[in-house]
Amino acid sequence: MADTSEFDTLAVRTGIHRSQFGEHSEAMYLTSSFVFENAAQAAARFTGGAEGNIYSRFTNPTVSAFQERLAALEGAEACVATASGMSAILATAMTVLKAGDHVLCSASVFGSTVQLFSNILGKFGVETTFVAGASVAAWEGALRPDTKLLFVETPSNPLTEIADIAALAAVARSAGALLAVDNCFCTPALQQPLKLGADLVIHSATKYLDGQGRVLGGAVVGPRGAVMDGVYGFLRTAGPSLSPFNAWVLLKGLETLRIRMDAQSQAALQLAQWLERHTGIERVYYPGLPSHPQYALAKKQQRLGGAVVSFEVKGGRETAWRVVDETRMISITANLGDTKTTITHPATTTHGRISAEARKAAGIGEGLLRVAVGLESLGDIQADLERGLS
Ligand SMILES: *Cc1c(COP(=O)(O)O)cnc(C)c1O
Repeated sequence: MADTSEFDTLAVRTGIHRSQFGEHSEAMYLTSSFVFENAAQAAARFTGGAEGNIYSRFTNPTVSAFQERLAALEGAEACVATASGMSAILATAMTVLKAGDHVLCSASVFGSTVQLFSNILGKFGVETTFVAGASVAAWEGALRPDTKLLFVETPSNPLTEIADIAALAAVARSAGALLAVDNCFCTPALQQPLKLGADLVIHSATKYLDGQGRVLGGAVVGPRGAVMDGVYGFLRTAGPSLSPFNAWVLLKGLETLRIRMDAQSQAALQLAQWLERHTGIERVYYPGLPSHPQYALAKKQQRLGGAVVSFEVKGGRETAWRVVDETRMISITANLGDTKTTITHPATTTHGRISAEARKAAGIGEGLLRVAVGLESLGDIQADLERGLS
């Protein structure tokens, strides 16, 4: 996607179906149900014989607009919006898996994703093996005859390891399994997994799709047909549907997605370069730096490096905590994907519950900090970090 002009127009114009009032901005349909003209129409809608909305757990025009727009941006046929990123992962799992199936998941996925696969789905007879996401051989080696789903997050959090989507798609195909990519960190503005061969894309719309930290939302994106029909079937019955208010906020977020991702990635790259030169820093993890072990793959697969930069400070936890505590502007919070820059100490927060050995194996040291770069002036972000570093 070297040329972003098509993307930019889709982001602003897709999914608009004006009402009889001719509103210019997308309308927000805050209604739980829809009325029918007569009994026959009601009956026809319920049997599926006539198109039209029935109830907002099933469909809602504002939610449909968001689905249409996000599908267009991912280059997909279909999208099902969900109440949160986690319910998008749950809806996918409930659709493509049954008791006795096996899942391969990259080890450094979002914490709740690990819990969902191991504890919740484990209870229903679905077994999950966690593998090193960046090693194609590790995925191949862990395949079993009953493997039905490969689930990967790339870049990983917090170390920004890159998994090779095209290679994993080939591994999944060879095993008759599906590849689902959690595209939260890159968004379609930087990476379009379906074009690289993935079967499904998962989003936590809570992060960059909203982009301003306002609402929860999620989505599953992919080809129409069995899987997406299945995901929608799960959603309309089980109910983790996206609220029309949140869908409206997310629609407006998508309009500025590409320019936000570009600006925040650009600032993140400059911050990463500055940190790499800083004497107080041991190591910087950022896919846009030539020092990143998978720089070439990142360059091939992503348009830019993304907005998340992690770095190991000299002096371990003491220094890391000092850097956090000396900030005055940057928000101390584990969230990301906001215009406001955030900082977190993974070893004692997001990754605090796993054992020290497991943390060490995952490469998450006591001196590691993760910054999700927002839209403030880069000079102010640097000054805020410099206070604790010097
Ligand atoms: C936040 C996040 C999720 C979960 O999304 P929610 O909207 O919080 O449910 C899933 N994957 C990644 C990569 C995330 O960062």
